[in-house]
Amino acid sequence: MLRLRQDIPLFPNGKKKALTLSYDDGVTQDERLLGLMNQYQIKGTFNINAGLMGDKDWLKQPRIDVSHDKFSKEKVKELYCGQEIAVHTMTHPDLPRVPEGMIAYEIAECRKELEELEEKPVTGMAYPFGTYNEKVKQAAKTCGITYSRTTKQTFAFDVPEDFLEWHPTIHHTEERLFSLWEEFLEPVTDEMYRQPQLFYMWGHSYEFDAFGQWEMIEEFLKKAGGHEAVWYATNEEIYRYVMAVRGLCYSASGDYIYNPGALDVWMMIDKKVYQIPSGESITIKKWEK
Ligand SMILES: [Zn+2]
Repeated sequence: MLRLRQDIPLFPNGKKKALTLSYDDGVTQDERLLGLMNQYQIKGTFNINAGLMGDKDWLKQPRIDVSHDKFSKEKVKELYCGQEIAVHTMTHPDLPRVPEGMIAYEIAECRKELEELEEKPVTGMAYPFGTYNEKVKQAAKTCGITYSRTTKQTFAFDVPEDFLEWHPTIHHTEERLFSLWEEFLEPVTDEMYRQPQLFYMWGHSYEFDAFGQWEMIEEFLKKAGGHEAVWYATNEEIYRYVMAVRGLCYSASGDYIYNPGALDVWMMIDKKVYQIPSGESITIKKWEK
């Protein structure tokens, strides 16, 4: 018999869409952004340079002339509570140009310092300047990094195949931000559903100061928050959930699926939603003609 069964992962509670944010450098403007994210119940990840915590700095680039002060250790510990913090290396080097023996230090030492603040494992990362190559990816993996964000925007809603090259959907300064969000929100019927959809926005909060965009970002977060159809999650929560889906164990016939992971997983199988509880097996009802 020809099998045409389709098993398509869903996000937690059977949702088809998720939103996550990623902001870099641990700058003091994050405080205002965090206030807005918390107000509109939006989740995300903040990528911190552990070796630069507490530094006073000013950023001068074409079109940018703005404070680049970093939060102190104490403030990092207190401020990002409820959101995720992740590795952005100790000193923000262009990693592909760093001697191999120093890449591991930049990553692992940053991890260790952030973990001491968080008192739990920190396994996420964003590549400084978005730059990486195979050598950098391998070093990150060896240092216990499970996912790392690039700066290559896709304008798409795909979950990454390779989490060590996690390309974001869009940078917040893009003109298409609002129209892309509208596109993302368009309802997806069970008939149309092909894959989970992730809207992944990234940036630096100092850009809101530099470009006078605080009103814009508040308007966006207000529009983005509070949708029943969307799962609001940190980068790590998305990574862990997708790994739980990828860890499902199928019987040879596909009639039984065992979930060995710690998270419940949702799956759409032939247009029907199944919840596969952590540590349990489910039986898929056969299609009958
Ligand atoms: Zn950075």
